Amino acid sequence: MSRALSSVRFHDRFRLVLGRLSDGTLTAMSTTAPDVDGYQFLGFGPRATGDAPGWTVHPGLFIRCARCGDLLRLDPTCDATCGCGRLAIDSGGRLGATDGDGSIAVYSRG
Ligand SMILES: [Zn+2]
Repeated sequence: MSRALSSVRFHDRFRLVLGRLSDGTLTAMSTTAPDVDGYQFLGFGPRATGDAPGWTVHPGLFIRCARCGDLLRLDPTCDATCGCGRLAIDSGGRLGATDGDGSIAVYSRG
């Protein structure tokens, strides 16, 4: 049912990203993409959404906040913000991520 996703790169599931502590210092955090029921993990950051530079917005793709775990649909027609406010997408297709693009796990609907 998801033949097009056979090239999922499982080694991308674990990644070290730079995070910012509450006092402003940068620190390396390990990020693990969790399994989400009904979704397929594609990778971290914009490159997981397509070959074009930057994010490719597509309503069938979802991004997950590394902090609160909310999934946001990459739908360019509506505004959405995750529960903790660190991840947001607006109706112009712009994406804001407090923790940087590399912390964002990308999923497709399985
Ligand atoms: Zn969040």
